[in-house]
Amino acid sequence: MKPNVYFSEQVDSRSIEDVFGRALRDGVKIGRESRVAIKVHFGERGNTRFVSPGNLQPIIGSLGKINGNLFLTDANTLYRGMRLNATDHLKIAKEHGFDRLKTKIVIADGEKGDEEVDVEIGKTIFSKVKIAKAVAESDVLIAVSHFKGHMLFSFGGAIKNIGMGCGSRAGKLEMHSKIKPSVSTNCVECGRCIEHCPVEAISDESGKTRINQVKCIGCAGCIAVCESEAIDIPWHGATSRECMERCVEYAFGAVRGKERVFVTFIHHITSDCDCMPDSRVIGDDVGIVSSTDPVACDQAAYDLVLRKHGGRDIFKAAHGMDGRHQLAYAERIGLGKRAYTLIEL
Ligand code: SF4
Ligand code: SF4
Repeated sequence: MKPNVYFSEQVDSRSIEDVFGRALRDGVKIGRESRVAIKVHFGERGNTRFVSPGNLQPIIGSLGKINGNLFLTDANTLYRGMRLNATDHLKIAKEHGFDRLKTKIVIADGEKGDEEVDVEIGKTIFSKVKIAKAVAESDVLIAVSHFKGHMLFSFGGAIKNIGMGCGSRAGKLEMHSKIKPSVSTNCVECGRCIEHCPVEAISDESGKTRINQVKCIGCAGCIAVCESEAIDIPWHGATSRECMERCVEYAFGAVRGKERVFVTFIHHITSDCDCMPDSRVIGDDVGIVSSTDPVACDQAAYDLVLRKHGGRDIFKAAHGMDGRHQLAYAERIGLGKRAYTLIEL
């Protein structure tokens, strides 16, 4: 049977409640005491296009009527910014007004980005994935996503949000690259990373800090502790298609065994993701979609963007690549279905 995708062109409290409520009623089981993680993106400093606290309020309000154990969450980033550790992450969440929602905020992989759970998935690339602890230990995952362009994925929605977004820092490194980090010429030889490395893979070799690529387990801890931005992240260690496939397998691990609902806002469609300061808006606003199937949700969002723009792929025009590979791969590994029934509210 095709999954339902509920769609509203309007983006206001009532429409958000409507689309989300309809998806919830598609058999989602949430008990009063279930641990409900609401996966959001708190927005990097300088970004204003993330899903706003105001737009989250109707979702929290609906959930609050049936559950007393919900929390807002995201995991720390691989890059240095305001979301590198839980202290700064909570600070930017507050700056962006999320504290006004009066809902607990939990940074899912802890202060240092190393609180994770290995989730068995048995897929082609990964047999297990490193999911941020608070997400892995939740019973229900509600993923609230912003549909926009992305430099590696062409576009990003629900799959990107739960795949990349629910991986711990080591998980994010694993998704981005097949190569281990190295030390760049920015190094001031402070020795902090040497002390931090859990497997003694970093050493001082005649006054130069070096990473032993064989010993390194890819935990990404040195990236977080280096204040000189001297640990090179091998961003191009995997091709765009490989990154998509890795992220999709992580998405499979993030939702494994959980009740789930996806709500995606297709407005303020920027060329790049919310981990960056505001980028240019590349398309017209479309509305909101919600579904219990992340693949159907992303496919519908993509199709609706095309419909709005006369069949033109605005993401391909911005990034020169076809992001639908993530949808095809997601369907292939059983994350969800690309065929859906669109119900316009
Ligand atoms: S923490 Fe950074 S600056 Fe310090 S030794 Fe390691 S790489 Fe060099
Ligand atoms: S990624 Fe982890 S294991 Fe590898 S060098 Fe850095 S701290 Fe050590």
